[in-house]
Amino acid sequence: MDKIKIKKIYEEKINLLSKYNLFYYDKSKPKVSDQQYDSLKNEILLLEKKYKFLKSKNSPAEAVGHKPSKNFKKFQHRASMLSLSNAFSEEDLKNFEKRILNFLSENKEFKIIYSAEPKIDGISASLTYKNGIFERGLSRGDGKEGEDITANLYTIKDIPKKILDKDFPKDIDIRGEVFIQNSDFESLKEKFANPRNAASGSLRQKNSEDTKKIPLKFIAYTYGFEQGLRQKNQSDYLKKLDEWGFKTNPLNKTISGVKNLIQNYNDIEQQRANLDFDIDGIVYKINNFELQKRLGNVANAPRWAIAHKFSSDKAISKILDIDIQIGRTGALTPVAKIKPINIGGVLVSNATLHNEDEIKRKDIRIGDIVTVERAGDVIPHILSVDLNKRPKKSAKFIFPDKCPSCGSKTEKEFNKITKKIDAVRRCPSEGYYCDKISIEKLKHFVSKDAFNIDGFGKKIVENFWKLKLIKYPQDIFNLDFSKIENLDGWGKLSVQNLKFSIEQKKNISLERFIYSLGIRHIGLENAKLLSKHFVSFSKFKNLSKKIDYEDMLNIDGIGETQVSSIKSFFSNKDNKKVLNELANVLLIKDAIQKSDDGLLNNKTFLVTGKLNGISRAEVKSLIEENSGKTISSVSKKLNFLIIGEKPTKKKVDYAKQLKIKIIGQAEFLKMLNKSS
Ligand code: NAD
Repeated sequence: MDKIKIKKIYEEKINLLSKYNLFYYDKSKPKVSDQQYDSLKNEILLLEKKYKFLKSKNSPAEAVGHKPSKNFKKFQHRASMLSLSNAFSEEDLKNFEKRILNFLSENKEFKIIYSAEPKIDGISASLTYKNGIFERGLSRGDGKEGEDITANLYTIKDIPKKILDKDFPKDIDIRGEVFIQNSDFESLKEKFANPRNAASGSLRQKNSEDTKKIPLKFIAYTYGFEQGLRQKNQSDYLKKLDEWGFKTNPLNKTISGVKNLIQNYNDIEQQRANLDFDIDGIVYKINNFELQKRLGNVANAPRWAIAHKFSSDKAISKILDIDIQIGRTGALTPVAKIKPINIGGVLVSNATLHNEDEIKRKDIRIGDIVTVERAGDVIPHILSVDLNKRPKKSAKFIFPDKCPSCGSKTEKEFNKITKKIDAVRRCPSEGYYCDKISIEKLKHFVSKDAFNIDGFGKKIVENFWKLKLIKYPQDIFNLDFSKIENLDGWGKLSVQNLKFSIEQKKNISLERFIYSLGIRHIGLENAKLLSKHFVSFSKFKNLSKKIDYEDMLNIDGIGETQVSSIKSFFSNKDNKKVLNELANVLLIKDAIQKSDDGLLNNKTFLVTGKLNGISRAEVKSLIEENSGKTISSVSKKLNFLIIGEKPTKKKVDYAKQLKIKIIGQAEFLKMLNKSS
């Protein structure tokens, strides 16, 4: 690869990292997980190591945080506020100690004492005290300049506003972490991914009255500029901070020797889920201030400290309970309710246990101390149980043989294809007998690929169900809006909008209608096949005779499994009633027999970005109904790229390069003689 190309790749990565920094540090709403962020950071560092000509002031090896936001006045830090370098293993710690000994020109016998401090995951702040009076507080910003957040910091009770102790330095920047306790985070978890983002978002609000409403805490751990500090080492300084009225971490310790550091790290990792504050590792600092000064800093971190991080995809926690969730098709899925724990920036409180066999195989019990894994986008799951920590009285978990919702006897099916008994246990009830299954069916009914009712999400289904406003799908079209208008969080306008969205969706194609019924084994593709086969709703609805079912087996793609599922659906009188009642309120369009002379004949399409009021599935079927074709990527075969809100830049750029026609939603609908 030539130099220019490498530089271009490098700069793209740097720009992406800067964008992630903006969202994380400034907006407190990360774009990506910490794992994704760290892997991009590593890619950049590797490139810099390999190609010495690569340099940027935004390199993660140089930069700290993000530049101060325009929402605040900015001030220069009197002493830079740096980041910390990271260690992930015993090897990393040994190397850290070696580097220090080399720098100090000492041999192995030299005993290094560390201050080991749990690394609270919040945001740091620097508080300037002059003659004992708290004068100004700054955020870290980019390490050189911080945001003036004095008014907001003033609302935090843990921050002393006046210190009279005669030992207190005449002029000092006290530094520490602003954070939110896990128990207080509960009420904010809808808005923020984890307590760190919540603390950052709450602390950096424009109006300090808003900050005041959030119970932020402050723990002190270091200093910046100082005049008159008498302590000679970190542990004495931490003690003094206590005397001066600051809160310090009760788990701070002085330790020497890498083995002991590891022991302390493991001990604290075990306690992590029981702490009421979120920690993401342990910080080790050379205890002696004189040595700290000699060691100094590298570009963006002190040479005398390191953060020993906890794994970003695994953590230890405790199983508080095992919940059995029931899906739309009756599958019983056990879920472990665990003590909330931050794994790679996401607070995890549920872990899937997959099925009954998995619980048996791993002998997972309520009260167990377990290692939970959350890697990539995979649902968190239990990796292993620490049998040494198992409480003496713990009992094996007995999987319910009755549905926890409706009491029906649960069963495991024989899978004709694998010739084995299924691992999944199910509630066999059909129709709307089982409440939990019914709720899931309703969620499916309004979902994107089914009726796609705008503003009618899962939460609303649950809420309306609880209030007995809906029980069957047809109830959605006969809602009592006067009742809804008086509910908490609803008003005239939102009710009008909901009414409009529901009204709009009364007109539906047969294939989407069949899909929306949530019949087991009938996904989008099968619903399409069935709709082509039956053509009209009345034919589908009146399906009853043996010959009808046998006929279905002739459809390419439909097999015995699907047919027996449809049979079971039609054998239930509630389901039949639902079909009849829906027929009264809906206009279900006959399947259009595909012809080759539709308006979009011979044309290929691809959608990128979100369209307004039409789901991807709907666009796809519109295209196909009109003899067009959809394809899955930009290539020379593509004729039209339809762009919606936030399209994928790569697709748009590539389409431009290939000179493919790019159109918006309105233009697309125009091709079909429809208005948007
Ligand atoms: P850092 O948070 O890993 O470490 C430095 C910070 O540790 C200090 O600023 C201080 O606030 C804190 N700290 C807590 N206790 C301390 C103690 N006792 N002594 C000293 N410091 C203590 O470093 P960083 O550069 O702020 O952030 C890097 C982290 O942020 C990485 O884990 C990265 O994944 C994450 N990040 C994620 C995204 C994203 O988009 N997901 C973006 C940027 C950064």
